[in-house]
Amino acid sequence: MTDPTAKTSGFSHYSEWLEFDRKHLWHPYTSVNNALPCYAFDSADGCIIHLASGEHLVDGMSSWWCAIHGYNHPRLNEATIEQVQRNAHIMFGGLTHEPAVELSQRLLSMGPSNLDAVFLADSGSVSVEVAIKMAAQYFQAKGKPGKHRLLALRNGYHGDTAGAMAVCDPVTGMHSLFAKLLPEHVFAPQPRCRFGDEWDPSDFSEMRRLLRQHHKELCAVILEPIVQGAGGIWFYHPQYLCELRAVCDELEILLIYDEIATGFGRTGKLFAWEWAQAAPDIMTVGKALTGGYMTLAATLATADVAETIGSSGPLMHGPTFMGNPLACAVANASLTLLSDNKWPQQVAAVSTQMQRGLRPFIQYKCVRDVRVLGAIGAVELDRDVDVAAAQKIFVANGAWIRPFGKLIYLMPPFIASNEQIATLCAAIEAYLRTID
Ligand SMILES: *Cc1c(COP(=O)(O)O)cnc(C)c1O
Repeated sequence: MTDPTAKTSGFSHYSEWLEFDRKHLWHPYTSVNNALPCYAFDSADGCIIHLASGEHLVDGMSSWWCAIHGYNHPRLNEATIEQVQRNAHIMFGGLTHEPAVELSQRLLSMGPSNLDAVFLADSGSVSVEVAIKMAAQYFQAKGKPGKHRLLALRNGYHGDTAGAMAVCDPVTGMHSLFAKLLPEHVFAPQPRCRFGDEWDPSDFSEMRRLLRQHHKELCAVILEPIVQGAGGIWFYHPQYLCELRAVCDELEILLIYDEIATGFGRTGKLFAWEWAQAAPDIMTVGKALTGGYMTLAATLATADVAETIGSSGPLMHGPTFMGNPLACAVANASLTLLSDNKWPQQVAAVSTQMQRGLRPFIQYKCVRDVRVLGAIGAVELDRDVDVAAAQKIFVANGAWIRPFGKLIYLMPPFIASNEQIATLCAAIEAYLRTID
């Protein structure tokens, strides 16, 4: 009989584990039996991804907003190794530790000054679940249990767990697939007045109307400030948030900013809400929090939210890996790198280079729009991108870019050089030429 615990791999060539992956593993939004190709990853350094097949690719994705300082960073490695040699994990129930306390202190000093309490969560989606629970418990504690629904934006994205999914765009969030599972929230249209354009007050009218119509049942509005990420890489006018803050105050509705994608410098401000200077009551952060090393997120709340909930009982959430010391230690190291304050110049340089490289693509017939904000660049096509075909061309041109829907977008590590950005843009152009 064979020992079922014995090492079964014994792969002699990467093509063997790639083949096993193809048959047995799920990747984000895939089926195990579909043939969408996956590239075999070997390692990454700085802005370069090395494939097992020998190609070296410039990273245009930062592993989905995360790796802002680049890969295999000496200071982040050092912090991780130091912490793992001391202790990798300890339960957060009844015990606390310096990495978690230091991180919370840092987050409160970086975030909006009205925020006062921190919940350390283990992923972005979970931090959104916690934010939603905070809002619901807040109004329970206030004796207004009727205020339990949320208002969210169309084209918004807040994560894939059930509670978070219920506030994602109803179409792309696949609400119809899970209709019986999800609570029904209220949705406002996507803000259409663009970042950088003159403010058009009519852009807020429908939101105002919905808030007035539903305020007695609304506990909170949740949205991504300034940049809608996974819902379409869309940049909207900061005044929208100022209007929203005022109406939420007037109607006693909490305001939740989901800064999971936008936080830690990506938009050119440390947090995207700073473009509007209209602070939230609750804020979620994640993704780049650990510089892309480990999964960690946090939900920040005002003293009013924290103390009101506390007056009626505990906040009802407690993940097993809450406050994981290893994740907190590397997050502290990443935030220390940010505090060197090189990121504003780095983001500005990436931004300028992407403007230069991407803007001319508007001349292609298949390109509908080109937009850049901070270290985020997007080329919107008139059709869905054939991801497999596009990636083949990107890889052949030395670039790692993962399009979705009609969008080819870039969010490289902040340390990307002008030459590396030029490589990414040239790869996009090579694909555009094949379809135009
Ligand atoms: C990625 C993302 C999430 C979900 O975070 P996970 O760590 O994937 O659970 C939530 N909100 C926004 C805005 C995101 O970009």
